[in-house]
Amino acid sequence: MTDRKQHRMTLESSFPSGAQQWLCPTCSHRILIGVQRGRLEIMVLERGDELALHSGSAGAAIEKLEVSEARPAAFDNRTVH
Ligand SMILES: [Zn+2]
Repeated sequence: MTDRKQHRMTLESSFPSGAQQWLCPTCSHRILIGVQRGRLEIMVLERGDELALHSGSAGAAIEKLEVSEARPAAFDNRTVH
């Protein structure tokens, strides 16, 4: 588990609907994240390196979405780095 590669994802684009497209520059892993009435939906556009751990992606994006869609207080309990 500790041997797994860690990839850092970057926000590639965001849409007026609140959906966000994230890209991993290392392996081209690409996902689209959106919230529909509080329900999170993640669509994988490019699988990339499935063995790698992707950080700064779903976690950060989900928290951002939750902040805008749900409870801002939830954001204070976590650290995004
Ligand atoms: Zn990657």
